[in-house]
Amino acid sequence: MRITFIKPNIGRMEHSLYVDEGRMEPLMLAVLAGMTPPDVECVLYDDRMESIPFDEPTDLAAITVETYTARRAYEIAAEYRKRGVSTILGGMHITLLPDEAALYADSIFLGDAETIWEQVVDVARQHKLKPRYQGPPGVGQIGRVLPRRDLFKGKGYLPLTLMQFVRGCRFACSFCAVSQYFDKKHYVRAIDDVLREIEAQDRKFIFFIDDNIASDQKALAEFCHAVTPLKLHWVSQASLDVTRNPKLMKLLERAGNWGNVTGFETITPESLRESRKSPNIPRFTKYKEEVRILREHGMQSWAAFTLGYDHDTKESIEATVDFALESRFTLAAYNILMPYPNTPLYHRLEKEGRHLYGGKWWLDPTYRFNRAAFKPTLMSPDELTDACHAARTRFNSIPSLFHRFADVQTHLRSLSRMGAFWKYTLLFKKEIPKKHGMRFGLQ
Ligand code: SF4
Repeated sequence: MRITFIKPNIGRMEHSLYVDEGRMEPLMLAVLAGMTPPDVECVLYDDRMESIPFDEPTDLAAITVETYTARRAYEIAAEYRKRGVSTILGGMHITLLPDEAALYADSIFLGDAETIWEQVVDVARQHKLKPRYQGPPGVGQIGRVLPRRDLFKGKGYLPLTLMQFVRGCRFACSFCAVSQYFDKKHYVRAIDDVLREIEAQDRKFIFFIDDNIASDQKALAEFCHAVTPLKLHWVSQASLDVTRNPKLMKLLERAGNWGNVTGFETITPESLRESRKSPNIPRFTKYKEEVRILREHGMQSWAAFTLGYDHDTKESIEATVDFALESRFTLAAYNILMPYPNTPLYHRLEKEGRHLYGGKWWLDPTYRFNRAAFKPTLMSPDELTDACHAARTRFNSIPSLFHRFADVQTHLRSLSRMGAFWKYTLLFKKEIPKKHGMRFGLQ
């Protein structure tokens, strides 16, 4: 038996295939391959950089789906079905919208596929795949499975190893699909299992792709103690409330945490309330204290903003860029507020009649990447789209890069930190205009 694992792309540019130079390893597909019985052959194709050989013989196409890649994922599934190959779709989008997904594949998987993957393979082997499987969300890599990282060889992924310690998040931000998927819970993997996985690979630079590694601060402190002797450099995603725990900040620095993706979301207090971003709300002083603490501990932060709340204006978006430049963040993402399916934000906009693209931007053939998909209150959708793009362009300009780089507390701490700054900021600068306005799917 052969299983073909597929990581779909978002789509394509108007005139050519889009190769994502910032692509990272699709960890979860390698985890599923690691759980697959050894007599089953596993292959991986990554639509972000290679053509999928649809005519290559295979018994099952297993496709991971995010909201952004849903349209393309459904196209890929259709190609396999045309050739009589069984298809199964999994991933967060499938759990959020199972009835939509069921139209496009022989089988769908809701929840974390790892929970019963071996059973799925077994029935697929007998050609008795059921239309729907459901596993509970939970701790990752049960059974101490190691991902099949050999499947990543030759695919040109960024030279950092992806791994996972915590899944889910205890907060309930209004726009967040993670909070919806995990029902405001988090799941912590056994530390000795993570250590074993670190030792089983060669790299010293690791990205823990946890939804919020700081969701359980006690577990994070234990994790820091355990990884400190390994002398790693690592990054993750962490909510801002971690800065209010001085002991933990020291532990993170000592453990080799170089920085994290952190959701600042907005510097407008009314927008912050609207986002229900509770880890950011207490003592809100435009993040002065939080940024001071992050810098004091040398964090090379990747600040994530969501823009387009009811109080946001073109001027407030400009001010967000000023704030990010003053804070000398390594990277910043100026994301338009996106109504992900089944989130509280989605339902509110629906009630208020503010959706564009029929409320299904991810499937609409006229939708383009980075466009507003709803009607904002103080701007037109195009104004919001343009203001966010202008913010990205200004933050990633050459003068801005040099301004941010000249920071002894963070980027100038060591030669390797300087190298990381330039490698990732220049990559970001190159990728942003390439992706902007990209069409979803190929057809
Ligand atoms: S803190 Fe981050 S992961 Fe947690 S609910 Fe908010 S946006 Fe989602």
